[in-house]
Amino acid sequence: MGVKGRFAPTPSGRMHLGNLLAALLAWLDARAAGGELVLRIEDLDTQRTSPDLARQLMDDLRWLGLDWDEGGLEPDYMQSRRAAYYEEAFRILEGRGLIYPCYCTRSERMAASAPHRDDGAVVYSGKCFHLTAAERSELERQGRRPAWRVRCPDQTVALEDGNCGPYAENLARDCGDFIVRRSDGVFAYQLAVVVDDALMGVNHVVRGWDLLCSAPRQAWLHRVLGYEPPRFFHTPLLLAPDGRRLAKRDHDLDMGALRQRYGPEELTGLLAFYAGLMDRPEKVTARELVRQFSWAKVPKNDVIVCLS
Ligand code: GLU
Repeated sequence: MGVKGRFAPTPSGRMHLGNLLAALLAWLDARAAGGELVLRIEDLDTQRTSPDLARQLMDDLRWLGLDWDEGGLEPDYMQSRRAAYYEEAFRILEGRGLIYPCYCTRSERMAASAPHRDDGAVVYSGKCFHLTAAERSELERQGRRPAWRVRCPDQTVALEDGNCGPYAENLARDCGDFIVRRSDGVFAYQLAVVVDDALMGVNHVVRGWDLLCSAPRQAWLHRVLGYEPPRFFHTPLLLAPDGRRLAKRDHDLDMGALRQRYGPEELTGLLAFYAGLMDRPEKVTARELVRQFSWAKVPKNDVIVCLS
């Protein structure tokens, strides 16, 4: 089976340089293998995202010379329109006895957490898993609406990241029972992304390093749902000179500002330089980079960006 990759942006603002680096690498990974690419719109949170931002994002990708074979603003590729698929997976997990309601508020969640992970995320202690039926009914009676968590086993999931190398987590200790459906009924990213990658036939997941810690739980969920997990490739994060991660609020490095300052080939050259594919930033097209693309060249740690 050939490579099928995907780029799965959340249209909550204009893309920044870091998003573009992940997009370029996802595109190169698929094209260098003669494979296909899906563009999936991750708009689960309809309050924070919009079709207009998705349209702009697609325009920005095309401007940069990045294309895709399926997806975009078609209902089947927009997470906000795929709840029926997530519901089905949720029912399967429920049928296996892996789902339980969690009534903790945000502050209770922090208090009911095991020590924080290295990345600052909290590991939920499993407090609500131990509630009795009577305690649940009492909380329901008080009008508390639960979120839904999946129970993680005491199991170590090891994977070989195609860029970063070996990575492993014990799900119970390092990840903890995680939310798959919010209290407002919206399915959570962790469930949606697994269902989508599986149903869309994606076998290469290329995305930013910040999501490496999600890969073990996602690989595990794939298996529980009867799917073969994709191969993961986590790309370096771009940092501002003061060590901060670039964010969508850094408007000086978002696509609006970048398109005013650079042409597409200049910007591609800059990204190729940060990706270790060129010795210095020079004008180049994404297409021209296909032949020289290799994960061996891509940095294995964060990259500091200095744009004066
Ligand atoms: N939608 C996520 C983001 O924009 C990416 C999720 C993924 O690639 O798995 O950060």
